[in-house]
Amino acid sequence: MIMSEEKSDLEEKLGFTLQNVWEDIDEEKREEIFEFAEDYKDFLSSSKTERQAVEQSEKILRENGFKAISEYENLEQGDKVYFINRNKSIAAAVMGKEDLTHGCNIVTSHIDAPRLDLKARPLYEDGEASVALLKTHYYGGIKKYQWVSTPLAIHGRVVKEDGTPVDISLGDDPDDPIFVISDLLPHLSKKKQGERKMKEVIKGEELNLIVAGIPIDEEDIDEKVKMKVLEMLNDKYDITEEDFTSAELEIVPAHDVRDVGFDRSMLGGYAHDDRVCAYTSLRGLLELNDPKKTAMVIFFDKEEIGSEGNTGANSEFLETFYSKLLKLSKENYTLHDHREMLDNSKAISGDVSPAVNPSFKSVHEIQNAASFGKGIAINKFTGAGGKYSANDAHAEYVAFIRRTFNENDVYWQTAELGKVDEGGGGTVAKFLAELNIDVIDAGTPVLGMHAPFELISKGDLYHTFMGYQAFLKTE
Ligand code: MN
Ligand code: MN
Repeated sequence: MIMSEEKSDLEEKLGFTLQNVWEDIDEEKREEIFEFAEDYKDFLSSSKTERQAVEQSEKILRENGFKAISEYENLEQGDKVYFINRNKSIAAAVMGKEDLTHGCNIVTSHIDAPRLDLKARPLYEDGEASVALLKTHYYGGIKKYQWVSTPLAIHGRVVKEDGTPVDISLGDDPDDPIFVISDLLPHLSKKKQGERKMKEVIKGEELNLIVAGIPIDEEDIDEKVKMKVLEMLNDKYDITEEDFTSAELEIVPAHDVRDVGFDRSMLGGYAHDDRVCAYTSLRGLLELNDPKKTAMVIFFDKEEIGSEGNTGANSEFLETFYSKLLKLSKENYTLHDHREMLDNSKAISGDVSPAVNPSFKSVHEIQNAASFGKGIAINKFTGAGGKYSANDAHAEYVAFIRRTFNENDVYWQTAELGKVDEGGGGTVAKFLAELNIDVIDAGTPVLGMHAPFELISKGDLYHTFMGYQAFLKTE
């Protein structure tokens, strides 16, 4: 995109060189970038689950004049509206000047993240080890060995038989206890783990969370530590062992987001993938006033397990939101209006890209890989091998995105997931494309994606926000 200094005229005219966000930056701009990162830290530290991300988003939306769609009797230009689906996905829009059939500008992202879920019957006692534990079932693509010997928190909801929800959040407050899955000591792991392949260094059934060690003071009970845990949970939350069967308790890293590096130019934390794209698009939406086209952000659930389920991108959540908007904006709207609205919509599938890992460069094709400090990364396609399962945005649409970013001084780069034959992965882009919406992937580069502690650049964070904001207000 924008050229660095000291290029020849010919290079300047014909070449394509990426500029670093931090080069030639004045103090004011640097401060703006760092301040934006502080707001994001607050959001990410208090959004450890998809439910919490929805709660935080709703709080921010309401503070900025948005109302739930059920609070409106009709919608007019400039109205700010949101719709929550089962506490796990959320859509928000600023109504534009133009008729809805002219389409919307949408940025989608996902707010679920890889983690360990509890099983339906999780609690047991190991008499020989004298501890009580919780059995877990991992969610999404994790490297299992990364989840042992690291401080973990429990967040989620138990729903009792009568429907009463009980929210549990333990491990983030400095006064809370935390939890841990113990790894095997190196003195004894030479054979047991040393001969295993990486994927099995820790096996799924070895991801058992240590939760207690004090036995209950009662005679005639076999599993005294387990029973003590149940007694404590009953005292504090009024739940029983059977209540675990209707619970969604997520085991997630217990740490907050932290500045990384001597220069504090980076942010380390859990679930930048993909709450970074959710937050930046939300901020982009908040700062819109009276857009020509209706601007919208949608945060989906379940992307990490294939976008399934009725809160995932492969559900009809977006179409439901569209029909609600139409119903409140137009009298006697037709199915054709609904189709027109989809056909004329444009979308960015906001999801993270892998940044070049300095110690494992061989998996990247460097010329087409994203790296820190070069801004938002555009992926024309994702998928695996020969673009299998990819959306692959049209050249016309890529040109539109490129023009939008350049005209708004957004620093951007292009990205691929890695070397062509190295691996692959997908995003929600293809589910939007199925609705005949033009869509392209663009998001923040991440190092150590899906690890309990992922890394991003504050400069890329800021330019992701800039990019989404510029896109949302396009005419
Ligand atoms: Mn993602
Ligand atoms: Mn992911």
